[in-house]
Amino acid sequence: MYETVMNQFNNTADMIDLNPNIRKILGITNNEIIVHFPVKMDNGKVEVFTGYRVQHNNALGPYKGGLRYHDTVDIDAAKALAMWMTWKTSLAGLPFGGAKGGIQIDPRNYSDSELERITRRFTYALGENIGPEHDIPAPDVNTNPQTMAWIVDTYMSTISSSERSHNQHVVTGKPVGAGGLEGRDRATGFGVYLSIKLLLETEQQDLKDKRFIVQGFGNVGYWASHFLSQDGAKLIAVQDAHATVYNEDGIDTEALAQHCEPRKGSIKGFDGATEIDADEFFGLDCDIVIPAALGNQITAENAFKIKASIVAEGANGPTDKEGEKILLQNGVKIIPDIFCNSGGVIGSYFEWLQNRNGELWQLDEVMAKIQKKLTENFHKIHNEVNKREVDWRTAAFILAISRVETAYKQRGIFP
Ligand code: GLU
Repeated sequence: MYETVMNQFNNTADMIDLNPNIRKILGITNNEIIVHFPVKMDNGKVEVFTGYRVQHNNALGPYKGGLRYHDTVDIDAAKALAMWMTWKTSLAGLPFGGAKGGIQIDPRNYSDSELERITRRFTYALGENIGPEHDIPAPDVNTNPQTMAWIVDTYMSTISSSERSHNQHVVTGKPVGAGGLEGRDRATGFGVYLSIKLLLETEQQDLKDKRFIVQGFGNVGYWASHFLSQDGAKLIAVQDAHATVYNEDGIDTEALAQHCEPRKGSIKGFDGATEIDADEFFGLDCDIVIPAALGNQITAENAFKIKASIVAEGANGPTDKEGEKILLQNGVKIIPDIFCNSGGVIGSYFEWLQNRNGELWQLDEVMAKIQKKLTENFHKIHNEVNKREVDWRTAAFILAISRVETAYKQRGIFP
């Protein structure tokens, strides 16, 4: 992933003739924090875990980005994902920089109380490296509102009592009852749906009867499928780490979600579809492919099989360099991750504002705000695509990097 993001950055920097000094700054990450911390397991033994937080850049505002719990988390993955967050928040027009982190664990191997202690010790170990005006984590792969609630509680419990009030915005994606935002749960999937709908509109098409397939049925995959199905599109296949299920007549999104409850469950064994071989997934006859799981999923090995005309990147970095080349050669439109899944961090921004201003917003207000912001951003990218005659990712990167470049040019470099 690090290679992919650096390649995207360098190509854009060449194309826009990025100021060489700013190129040096943006080509590396500001801070890379690695913490080792002990946690008492249910059996009384102590395990030591390694946690990461990489802060790429904060020229536009506090560092922002998720924490993931997954076997693939390491320093390089965190660096790549942190850099993508800088471009995502910049492109979205938010007053945030980019960060990412997590712990290299498979949360299914731990009980809820172990996960709580792991999360609390991780938060404690990060200490002042996170903060509501400094670095604001959020959910990502295998973390959720409950994880954020433990973080906010630990953070508030361990800072000095004089600073304790008004610090809820140290994380976003919290449960609604604990300072979370109505609609933050569906914000990322909604953005994936809206980006596809807007792209189709540019070709005078709509979602009715469009067939789509989704890789990953976590928060993003589920909500994207939910909104797409509501508009008449048909979910025909889903893949997760354990199974690939297919039904050419359409999969009932809500029934599949119920089968997976609680969300850490799998689609395996779902009786509304037939299990097929994992290798068949990307080659299925459909209009839209939504990778909404992990990075590096569409590669030279499978990109040539894709029959869809749209790939909507719900995940971060799902398409590698070779995969992208093949898709573009075949005329596939890629809605790039830094726009496609930006509904999540836009929702986070509204949660942060809500907490900071001591307000409480209703679901319909929030969804209207997210929709407005995403639609404006979509049109900005579309204009850039037309103006420069480039693909959507290139256009998005040009806008994102240029905004950070302008900030540096105006501020100068200290001292
Ligand atoms: N983890 C999400 C992402 O990759 C959300 C980040 C956030 O809301 O800060 O965009």
